[in-house]
Amino acid sequence: MSELKLTPYWWEAAPRPEARAIAVPEKTDVCIVGAGYAGLSAALHLARAGRSVVVFDAMRAGEGASSRNGGIASGNIKFSFNAMISKFGLQRAKDFYAEGIAARDHLAALIRAEKIDCGFKMVGRFTGANSDADYEMLGREADALNQHLELGVEMVSHADQHRELGTDHYVGGQVRGDIGGLHPGLLHQGLLERVVAAGVLVICETRVSGVAKTDAGFVVTTPKGPVLAQDVIIATNGYTDGLISWLQRRIIPIPSQIIATEALPAGLMDQLMPKRRMLGNTLNLYNYYRPSPDDQCIIFGGRRGADTDDPQRKTRALREQLIEVFPQLQNTGLTHSWWGYTGYTFDFLPKVMVNDGIHYALGFCGSGVVWANWLGLKAALSILGETDAESIFAKYPFQTRPLYRGYPWFLPFVIRWYAIKDKLGKGRHG
Ligand SMILES: Cc1cc2nc3c(=O)[nH]c(=O)nc-3n(C[C@H](O)[C@H](O)[C@H](O)COP(=O)(O)OP(=O)(O)OC[C@H]3O[C@@H](n4cnc5c(N)ncnc54)[C@H](O)[C@@H]3O)c2cc1C
Repeated sequence: MSELKLTPYWWEAAPRPEARAIAVPEKTDVCIVGAGYAGLSAALHLARAGRSVVVFDAMRAGEGASSRNGGIASGNIKFSFNAMISKFGLQRAKDFYAEGIAARDHLAALIRAEKIDCGFKMVGRFTGANSDADYEMLGREADALNQHLELGVEMVSHADQHRELGTDHYVGGQVRGDIGGLHPGLLHQGLLERVVAAGVLVICETRVSGVAKTDAGFVVTTPKGPVLAQDVIIATNGYTDGLISWLQRRIIPIPSQIIATEALPAGLMDQLMPKRRMLGNTLNLYNYYRPSPDDQCIIFGGRRGADTDDPQRKTRALREQLIEVFPQLQNTGLTHSWWGYTGYTFDFLPKVMVNDGIHYALGFCGSGVVWANWLGLKAALSILGETDAESIFAKYPFQTRPLYRGYPWFLPFVIRWYAIKDKLGKGRHG
């Protein structure tokens, strides 16, 4: 068995590019902090609209969540549709969904138009119910989605489950056809290539340490020198640091981790994941998983283990869950185990907004494959003064909480509480 790599599986096909030596220009139209999907999406649109753009990243391009994620393209927000109706009313719930559909369509169109070879397919998603209560909840959710949005969501009983997934672990589940999957590293690589070709200066391994508003514009400070920018976009999501303390008090970095199995023996993938869908469950510390884009191995992610930084404990926690779902994999080795930060907000809504003249696109709450690309674009449209810059998310204030300074001290308690609830069979919907 080969040694476990603590780097993303995705980096095998899309290694992180080494930072090139690029001089920081004296001035630029737009400076973007963060070279993940959000920053690159904004940069591409601005550069194509004729603006000069500089993107800085403290790490290598895409080394944050954008080349670490599960590659599940949903355009969903954290609330179920029924929860949204209770919280925001039916019309607003429909509006959120409509923007999610527009965002997902935009990503699909972008990948097609730019010919980005990242294996994007609308394979649908099966969500396994971990309890009877969760199964009923998924059924009510399916009814609401079909009644109000005609999504064609289907429930699958325990007896029929094997047509979706080679396990008896769930009491049944729900299938949504409107969710896709892709190779996240290749998506980022394709975007980066287009951005560089459009003339954007992407300056990596260069942390931005200050953004100061002056009469002439924003002075953006870096160890390689300052740049004067007319506009600034902050696209740092779960990797938000102390650059802007107002922001740090509003973003909650929450780790998520993934393991990849070694290649499965011939025929086993057909048994375990016959439809090659994206997959999930209803635990509070939920799992998201899928076949690799080449169908060779299983990519299995989740939140269990988020209360430790120890990669071995994280790996063990996820592997235990993998075996619970697929006891057939008891003797299957792992090749990769890695983790990264998602960026949560206190109201669980992504943010695109302007504060004190600075643009922000972040807070994707673990669903940024679609949202980061979309809200990065919205931030760019806002700078260009275009009417379709509007987003439903701009209607909601960016909240903080007393005593919160950017370090989520409460996280280990929440993770343990969720673990207890999951053990008691009280899943996300129970
Ligand atoms: C393990 C994992 C699994 C996930 N799975 C999914 C999934 O299946 N589907 C889905 O939709 N979403 C998923 N997500 C979430 C998704 O990956 C993110 O929402 C998305 O990639 C965010 O993109 P971004 O461009 O906003 O931020 P990132 O890609 O995180 O980039 C932010 C960048 O900002 C840089 N930065 C921060 N501060 C500074 C500074 N001061 N100066 C310079 N640079 C700075 C960082 O170095 C970083 O590279 C997952 C995330 C993780 C970690």
